[in-house]
Amino acid sequence: MRYARIRHGKIDWAIQAGDGYRVLDQAPWLGGRSSERVIAADEAQLLCPVVPSKIVCIGRNYRAHAKELGNDVPKEPLLFLKPPSALCGPGDRVWLPPQTQRVEHEAELGVVVGKRLRRASEEDASAGIFGLTAVCDVTARDLQKSDGQWSRAKGFDTFCPVGPVVVTELDWRERDVVCRVNGSVRQNGNTRDMVFNVPVLLAYISQAMTLEPGDLVVTGTPEGVGPLVDGDALEVEVSGVGVLSLGVGDAK
Ligand code: ZN
Repeated sequence: MRYARIRHGKIDWAIQAGDGYRVLDQAPWLGGRSSERVIAADEAQLLCPVVPSKIVCIGRNYRAHAKELGNDVPKEPLLFLKPPSALCGPGDRVWLPPQTQRVEHEAELGVVVGKRLRRASEEDASAGIFGLTAVCDVTARDLQKSDGQWSRAKGFDTFCPVGPVVVTELDWRERDVVCRVNGSVRQNGNTRDMVFNVPVLLAYISQAMTLEPGDLVVTGTPEGVGPLVDGDALEVEVSGVGVLSLGVGDAK
């Protein structure tokens, strides 16, 4: 199943049905049931498909990416948070804030939580996955270094594009994670190369903070991160999920 959040006058959760969207009565991970109402695709604007209470991200979870920035792979998962105010969706523009000279893309697999996970085992964590999506962990690389911690550098408005949809019944293993800028492939990784896999990450996070249905876990980026400049066309693709297309420049 492919789940979306759409604007069609009002905003609704929806499930993709043919070339339209069937409206749900609440978020799919809260048991949203579908109505008879179908909105035609050309009348629906896709929005960011998640409204998480928190966004938990993983740093340096691919060996080749850790190395390209001169870092070692951590012994345990390296966690950081992005604020929900950083979320944006398909067709939005990634802002280039005046405080930074170096904004970079990081294409990543996003995992949407389907069940409350508190001090979960890896088995429970695996069963608690709702679905998968594509995320760009946009990063002000200069501020990440100069600030010493990452909240501002990774937390600007629009620095967490997600979408285009959330897909269920899709295995997190062997997902291609691709970033293209102006049509050129910048990143082309696969989730098989993660240092810590998805159930390990969810279980590890849940030892520290309860994961709620709808929360978003962003699982790290493969090698090939690079700069974004005004006017770029940015695409993040996760195989089986689809392509998240974005602009770069002044936010609307
Ligand atoms: Zn990242």
